[in-house]
Amino acid sequence: MRLFIFILVIFLIFDAVVHPKEAETGVILAEKRRELVEELKKEGITDRNVLNAMGNLPREIFIKPALEKRAYENNPLPIGEGQTISQPYIVAYMTQALDIKDGQKILEIGTGSGYQTAILGELNPTGDIYSIEILEDLAMRAKKLLKDLGYDHIHVKSGDGYKGWPSHAPFDRIIVTAAPPFMPKTLLSQLKIGGILIAPIGEAGDGQSLIRIVRVSKIKFQTEKLLGVRFVPMVSDTVDGDHP
Ligand code: SAH
Repeated sequence: MRLFIFILVIFLIFDAVVHPKEAETGVILAEKRRELVEELKKEGITDRNVLNAMGNLPREIFIKPALEKRAYENNPLPIGEGQTISQPYIVAYMTQALDIKDGQKILEIGTGSGYQTAILGELNPTGDIYSIEILEDLAMRAKKLLKDLGYDHIHVKSGDGYKGWPSHAPFDRIIVTAAPPFMPKTLLSQLKIGGILIAPIGEAGDGQSLIRIVRVSKIKFQTEKLLGVRFVPMVSDTVDGDHP
C-alpha cells in the first residue's frame, strides 16, 4: 500500500511538472466546484447525497473543452445539436425532489450530455438508470462517456422518450429533462404505484412549470407545481405516436 501511494505521489508530481497548465486548471475547477456546492446550499439544496454527488462529479467532462472554464457557472451551457446541459441548480433541485432511495429503477428522458444521468447514477449505485435521448449523436456520446466513467448500471438508448422504456417498466422514479406541452400518459402508465415523476410541462416562451407527480394508486395521481422553469422542448419523432 505504501509503495502504491509513493508511486502515485511521484506520478502526480511528474504529471504536474510535465503538464503544469492542466494541473493548474484542475485545481481551479475543483475550487469552483466547491464554490458551486456552497451556492447550491445557499439556494436551498439540503440533501447531503445530492450535494456530495455534485461536489464529487466533474461537470467539465460533460461539456466541450472550449467551455471548460465556464463549467461551474450556475447556468445551462450549449452541448451541440442546439441542446443544453441543464443549470446545476435545476439538476440539484430536480434530483432532490425525486427523493431517490438507493436500489431503485429510474427512467430519465433527455440524456443530453449525460451529466444529470451520472448524478442519478451516483445516488443510486445499486439500482439501475435507464436514459433515453432522441438525438442519436448525443445518445452515443453520452453512452460512451458514462461507460468510460464506469457507470455499468446506467443504460442509454437513442429513441423517443414519449414512448418510455416499456421493457423495463414500471419505474420507481421518472425524470424528464425536456419540456412536453402536456404530461405524456405513457410515462404516467410506466410509473410504479408510490413512484415519483418530475417533469417541466408547457410550451417554450409560454411559461413552463416543474411538476411533481406521485402515483397514489392505479388510477390516482397527486400533482404538485414546484417552480417556473425554462427547458428545451420535448420533441416527438412520430406523427401518430402517443404524443399527447
Ligand atoms: N439532462 C440533460 C439535459 C439535456 S436538454 C443534461 O444535463 O445534459 C434535453 C434533452 O432532451 C436534449 O438533449 C434533447 O435532445 C432531448 N429530447 C428532446 N425531446 C426528446 C424526446 N422525445 N425523447 C428523448 N429525448 C428528448
